[in-house]
Order: sequence, then structure tokens, then C-alpha cells
Amino acid sequence: MEDIKRLLLEEKAALLSGIQEKTENKPEINKDIGDAIDSSVEEQKRELDLLLQDREQARLTGIEIALKKIESDDFGYCDECGEAISKKRLLAVPLAIMCINCQSNEERSRLAQNAFSRADYSSQILVDD
Ligand SMILES: [Zn+2]
Repeated sequence: MEDIKRLLLEEKAALLSGIQEKTENKPEINKDIGDAIDSSVEEQKRELDLLLQDREQARLTGIEIALKKIESDDFGYCDECGEAISKKRLLAVPLAIMCINCQSNEERSRLAQNAFSRADYSSQILVDD
């Protein structure tokens, strides 16, 4: 599990520096100029930023949970059926919380329920295997 832990730590560091960079480079300069003119464009950009931040935040939380699980030897088991998740899958998708079978069942029912769920990583998880 050491290589997976390293993967998670690397990803956590990358995420954190990415978030930090964005917070530091907040574009405040054009705030007052042309505020009325391109406020809708600005609004859209802000929404996109927030969306991205949400995703990053969710991913970061996922990494934290995974790291805790590694510490307590709980890592790598399917949340749904309790089977061990294959190491190949974990290396490809370190944040996988379900085995490939449960994941695809879950995807199917979730996609049916909500085609526009934005806070998941279904696309990434599905490319595995
Ligand atoms: Zn399972």
C-alpha cells in the first residue's frame, strides 16, 4: 500500500498548491472597470471557479479519508460489499471506495436518478479497466 499512499500524498500536495495559487491570484484588478458591461461573463467565470473549487475540495476530502483509512488498515475495501478492491484499480483510482462491480451498479442507478450530478468522479472511475 506504500505506493498508493505516496500517490495520495503527491496528489494532495498538488491539489493544495493549486488551490493556494488560485486564492493568491484572485483577479481583483478589473473589478470596478466595466463592471456593468461584462458582469454576466464575470458571473459565469466565478461560477466556474466555484465549481472547480468544489470539485477540488471534494477530492481533497476524499484523499484525507483515504489516508486515514490507510493509517487504520481500512483502506482498499469496497464500501458496498466489503471485498478487497484490486490493487490495479486502486493505483488507477486511489480514491475508489467501491469495487468495480458495485461501482458500475451504483453508477447506473445514480445516472438514472441524476444525470447532472456534479460532485462525483464517475467519468474518472469508469475509465478504469
Ligand atoms: Zn463491492
